[in-house]
Amino acid sequence: MKIDLSKRNAIVLGSSDGIGLAVAHQFAECGANLLLVARSIEKLVRITNDLKQKYNQHIDYLALDIGELNTLRKELKKKIIEFGNFTIVLNNSGGPPAGSVSNATIEDFEQAFRQQLYAFQVVLEIVKPGMMQQNFGRIINITSIGAKQPIPNLGVSNTLRGAVTSWAKTLSLELAPYGITVNNLLPGFILTKRLISLIETEARRKGISFEEEMNFRQRQVPIGRVGKPEEIAYAAAFLASDFASYVNGINFPVDGGFLSCV
Ligand code: NAD
Repeated sequence: MKIDLSKRNAIVLGSSDGIGLAVAHQFAECGANLLLVARSIEKLVRITNDLKQKYNQHIDYLALDIGELNTLRKELKKKIIEFGNFTIVLNNSGGPPAGSVSNATIEDFEQAFRQQLYAFQVVLEIVKPGMMQQNFGRIINITSIGAKQPIPNLGVSNTLRGAVTSWAKTLSLELAPYGITVNNLLPGFILTKRLISLIETEARRKGISFEEEMNFRQRQVPIGRVGKPEEIAYAAAFLASDFASYVNGINFPVDGGFLSCV
């Protein structure tokens, strides 16, 4: 089984680092044309140039804050003129900062929802007509194991994941008749800047070292280690492919067995 995404146009949100960057590399390796979206123009230029040296497909970027919804809408519309229809979307962004839900402010929720759920809805608005026209679409959302099992001290994140999960399930029912699938990937502990920063925060809060907190996390994972961003990207490539044509509306944990629920 060889995953072939050639002739597909894919949007990857949050693709300058971590999981989004790994997915961008994997989609490019599978032959997709790519629109990378993130805030840092310097990183995006470097990544786009790297990818263009390796692959022949059309690869371009949009440097913006996806929480700026009007700008996101306007710029994506222009990119459809450049690329044609996008039929693969990886919805991904930075996760909300650590903190308890009981101390969270309305602004914390607003920011988190704006740069994930609301941005994902704007992307949907832009790509849906093209996906329906082609009778093919793959919408893949990066959520978290926190969608199924709240992670301590990630109150806003846990809440947001529940909302995105319900949005995605509802969407999967509405769009299935048009050949469009909607699925969520639930990363466990994946070694990215975000995980490092969360471990630092948690270690400070508990008064222990970074290594002690890292070891504590690794002991919670049956496989005994944290994951690599590529391990999420392989699952994303599968969900984006024709091979996943009968997979719709699911939550797909890639967590080394962390989740204890069935
Ligand atoms: P990361 O911080 O390494 O990467 C996030 C990416 O999103 C970066 O490219 C960043 O520039 C971009 N981004 C952030 N805010 C943006 C904005 N407003 N506009 C445009 N781009 C923006 O994070 P990651 O570890 O790759 O995590 C990705 C998602 O997966 C997050 O929602 C995170 O909470 C979730 N997650 C991560 C882990 C983990 O262990 N790494 C576990 C569970 C869930």
